[in-house]
Amino acid sequence: MNQTTKIINQAKKENRTALLENEAKTICAEYGIPVNKFQLAKNEKEAAAYADQIGYPIVLKIVSPDIIHKSDAGGVMLNLKTPQEVVSAFKKIIENATKYKPDAEIVGVLVQEMAPQSTEVIVGAVKDPQFGQTIMFGLGGIFVELLKDVNFRVAPITAEDAKEMITQLKAYPLLNGYRNTPPADINALVAILCSTSHLIMNHPEIKELDLNPVMAYPKGAKTVDARIILE
Ligand code: ADP
Ligand code: MG
Repeated sequence: MNQTTKIINQAKKENRTALLENEAKTICAEYGIPVNKFQLAKNEKEAAAYADQIGYPIVLKIVSPDIIHKSDAGGVMLNLKTPQEVVSAFKKIIENATKYKPDAEIVGVLVQEMAPQSTEVIVGAVKDPQFGQTIMFGLGGIFVELLKDVNFRVAPITAEDAKEMITQLKAYPLLNGYRNTPPADINALVAILCSTSHLIMNHPEIKELDLNPVMAYPKGAKTVDARIILE
């Protein structure tokens, strides 16, 4: 688990507690949590070149240690279809970020594969002062924010625990297939929960982790946003 330790040590050295999305996703990938393809671009030309490598449609996102909620800052642009769109979205994202937080340090723009739309789920972890590392699972959007339909377990968890966290949600029928929506790959979500448990047990210096959202597909799942906060 070389990359993970390196990234965490580097952040500590720079006195940063919030890892950047590319750092958090590199850690996820090392632990076997599926993430979409990404490359960090420093300028428009690089962004267009990476977009060609990754393939369209493309998503661009601001990368700044001072901007945690990227959409709030106008820092996420989805479904870009041409190099021209990538170049103008790059400019717009930098402009939005600068307006949102004039003194924000901007590391670059993350060029990434656009994952197909699907049911969005959330995997979270927080270090509870009493229980230690805990893991959370829920469905994205209103299910977490309004209905608080989420399940928690103290880590480490077994695959059986992970399965319960998923199937015991009130919204579970949404994952189990309804009308024209095929059932989500529950085993892929169980694997992500178990890998997350493994990661936070190996790294007690992780104070918070958020995979929000993870796209749940009939076959597999993909994390399109990852956030890790260190103590
Ligand atoms: P924020 O920092 O605001 O949480 P996100 O990276 O989660 O930013 O992006 C906001 C939303 O855009 C996500 O909730 C998801 O619906 C969509 N999104 C982000 N990245 C991708 C992607 N690579 N493919 C498809 N949809 C994405
Ligand atoms: Mg997000």
